Amino acid sequence: MMRATSLFLLWVSCVFGAPVSKDRQKLLLISFDGFRWDYDRDVDTPNLDQMAKDGVKAQYVTPPYLTITSPSHFTILTGRYIENHGVIHNMWFNTTTTEKKPYYQSQFVNEWWDNGSLPIWITAQRQGLKAGSLHFPGTASSYQGQVAMVQEVEPLLYNYKNETAWRENSDKVMSWFRDRDLDFVSLYFGEPDGVGHKYGPDSPERREMVRQVDRTVGYIRHSAEHHGLTDQLNVIITADHGMSTVFRNGLVEEITLSKIPGFSFRDLSFHLLDYGPSGMLLPKPGKLDGVYNTLKGAHPHLHVYKKEEMPEHLHYSKNDRILPIILWADPGYVINGYFPVQFNKGEHGYDNQEMDMKPFFRAVGPAFQKNLEVGPFETVNIYPLMCHILGIQPEVNDGHLSVTKHMLVISDSRGSGDEKNHLKNAFTGLAAVAGFLVVTFIAIMSQKMLKRKHKNKRSDSFRDAQSEPVQSSF
Ligand SMILES: [Zn+2]
Repeated sequence: MMRATSLFLLWVSCVFGAPVSKDRQKLLLISFDGFRWDYDRDVDTPNLDQMAKDGVKAQYVTPPYLTITSPSHFTILTGRYIENHGVIHNMWFNTTTTEKKPYYQSQFVNEWWDNGSLPIWITAQRQGLKAGSLHFPGTASSYQGQVAMVQEVEPLLYNYKNETAWRENSDKVMSWFRDRDLDFVSLYFGEPDGVGHKYGPDSPERREMVRQVDRTVGYIRHSAEHHGLTDQLNVIITADHGMSTVFRNGLVEEITLSKIPGFSFRDLSFHLLDYGPSGMLLPKPGKLDGVYNTLKGAHPHLHVYKKEEMPEHLHYSKNDRILPIILWADPGYVINGYFPVQFNKGEHGYDNQEMDMKPFFRAVGPAFQKNLEVGPFETVNIYPLMCHILGIQPEVNDGHLSVTKHMLVISDSRGSGDEKNHLKNAFTGLAAVAGFLVVTFIAIMSQKMLKRKHKNKRSDSFRDAQSEPVQSSF
């Protein structure tokens, strides 16, 4: 029986603890913060062009509203609209204490992120894969007690522009794939968002940064080749939002709430203002309609909505964290509270239907078609695409694989995530039944042989003794 037991244990480890097959494809997700869809129009980008020839280029993609960094990146990682994943702003805030934390500090507020939706790292790991993340928004948090198994959070006061650091980070990620056999890594670069804000999206500084992005894309692809990963590794490059020029130099009438007749900050218990073109207000009890009516129509480029009246396509309403009044400005404008304090030449956070808010999208690797340009799609759809490539079952999400499936090679025989999982489940079930039958058979046969052996021995020793009839189980 000992032999049968060890065989059974061996079988169990084969069926349930099987190492992930080596022909599984890997995936590197890269975000270049604020890379607008058309940034390659006025700059030579040989490496991005080559990537499009070797893979897929989308005309542009549509980010979720609010078009800002943390919320939009979490949509890429979860496939959920912002109202569904709950990371509704770059800034964590508490309306009771009126405390607010800026972008970087909010990365470390665990409950802000761990809010019901699982990022792809955790889902992949739960299904036997290995995931990593370098500087990607959301990396610092844990989710239902788990983190990406290899992770690097950017230090405070990090220089986002340093090209040498970009190359070191790219090398690091490639070594994670090769030496630690990771299946999925997300990699974040903080540019060209920084130069887009500071100098504007039409500036020479932005164009120079796009050249740096292009060199980095070339470096990453070369590095993948150097690490012997080309046949296995898929690379998706996208961004969280675009960038729009802010009207300056007294060309336009600024939006400053304190200057709006009848508006008073005394009517509010909490506000999120002076954050580019968007804002949220929590009026004091009984003041909601008054504040709303005062602001609505007060400036021709200021949009004022009650939370429950938000346009459906923005998917920015159904979450307790979203405040009762939402404000946003037309492109070119920012929303100031007491007085103008914002001096960026470029901003984002506008309506996601504005073309300036659309990011780019490129993909290359064994899963993708070559030299294919596709139409636009929403970034919620990147998540089911990534799950499909990794061969994992996605969590509930707002995207659809059908939107991006035409980018994949036809010989991709793995089917959709669902089909694949059903097949996998069926196979596991059959394997379990077959395994059980084999183990039972072996156990019974061993028992019979042992008994026979024992009987023979006994017959030898007690030749005269009467033998018992051999029992049969079958
Ligand atoms: Zn930004």
